[in-house]
Amino acid sequence: MSLDNTLDLIRQIAESTVRDEAVVVDQEAKWPEQSMRTLQREGVAGFVVPKESGGLEHGLMGLAKACETIGEESASAGLCFGMHCVGTAVIAAKATDYQKKHFLEPIAAGEHITTLALSEPGTGAHFYFPQTQLLSLSEDEYVLRGKKTFVTNGGKADSYVVSTMGVDPDAMQHEFSCMVVEADRQGLIWGEKWDGIGMRGNSSRSLTLDNVKVPSKNLLGEQGDQLWYVFQVVAPYFLTAMSGTYLGVAQAAFNEVREHLQNRTYRHDGTSLSQNQLLQHRLGSIWAKIERTRQLIYHATRQYDSGDPAAVLTIISSKAEVAHCVVDVVNECMTLAGGIAYRENSKLEMLLRDARAAHVMAPTTDILYTWLGRTLLEQPILDS
Ligand SMILES: Cc1cc2nc3c(=O)[nH]c(=O)nc-3n(C[C@H](O)[C@H](O)[C@H](O)COP(=O)(O)OP(=O)(O)OC[C@H]3O[C@@H](n4cnc5c(N)ncnc54)[C@H](O)[C@@H]3O)c2cc1C
Repeated sequence: MSLDNTLDLIRQIAESTVRDEAVVVDQEAKWPEQSMRTLQREGVAGFVVPKESGGLEHGLMGLAKACETIGEESASAGLCFGMHCVGTAVIAAKATDYQKKHFLEPIAAGEHITTLALSEPGTGAHFYFPQTQLLSLSEDEYVLRGKKTFVTNGGKADSYVVSTMGVDPDAMQHEFSCMVVEADRQGLIWGEKWDGIGMRGNSSRSLTLDNVKVPSKNLLGEQGDQLWYVFQVVAPYFLTAMSGTYLGVAQAAFNEVREHLQNRTYRHDGTSLSQNQLLQHRLGSIWAKIERTRQLIYHATRQYDSGDPAAVLTIISSKAEVAHCVVDVVNECMTLAGGIAYRENSKLEMLLRDARAAHVMAPTTDILYTWLGRTLLEQPILDS
């Protein structure tokens, strides 16, 4: 399926199933089951799976647009789908024949959801320094010990891409490996139901890995592939899934407020808010902010897809900029939509709560700007 056809299909699903489910997803903090199952059933779950494993093999720009389209209807559904694609991309980066057969082919067939379990309570925003231990039991088997937090699709996915330290206690500090852990392995202990103020359908739960035995064939790449995964795969896909989703949230807020300005007419003089010059100016400025962020995201992802090394800078910028964009836009739209927007359960109230996560989801806005500055100053990107 071409990218255009895939995105058309995703838009149809977004404007029907995702839209219909969005309110209950938010109000009941319910994982977007219908949306995710429809995306699987309609053949788009293999969005980033290579064609040789039966997937659609769309690139990073496709992922940004897919998350934007879904995120415009439901931020949670956008991110749940996005995190599934991020996990998939990490598996696909250096997949062995076994991993293709056991993970990528079922993902492409719509039979398997995966996701990323990186963040930990001990290292927080510094997700690239996992403390989860990976110990070898034998040549064929490892054991995992540690604790993860905020695992989106937590308890719902069929497998988890778990970041760990390098193998064994004498592994170098800051080595980084990734293991795929199937959901039905012994020793996965899930924390409380996710109850965020926004992104309420994410099922972003904590996970204790209590001596989980995993076959060594589930290890992605080489032992202690270190930061290759972080900067070549995890960061670009993770950042783009978030950038696309929050761009969609900003667009949704714009759509709401434009409709309000067009429909709100005063009885005392018969004028519409759409005729007010100040509001026209403010709406134009909101549109421009969204559009320049959109063009940055598309430009960055196009650069990545074409192998341009400058993509490192633009992809980092995209997520930092979209976080500012979405928070500013939703705030501004709240003002333009007046008191109606300020009631509980208004659409803008939900978007305001969803938007706020953009700054704190790792890599956080402050850390991204620091990475940018360090790169521009030719300093090491990570703290020692
Ligand atoms: C809705 C939601 C979904 C999520 N989904 C996932 C997921 O699917 N997978 C996953 O792995 N994680 C996920 N996360 C986790 C997210 O990435 C964490 O919120 C993040 O790791 C921040 O961790 P923390 O809360 O411990 O913040 P802390 O580490 O306590 O940081 C607090 C603040 O300090 C700032 N800070 C810390 N160090 C520095 C520094 N050196 N320079 C500048 N500022 C700094 C941070 O930017 C942040 O603003 C999700 C989070 C949320 C809210």
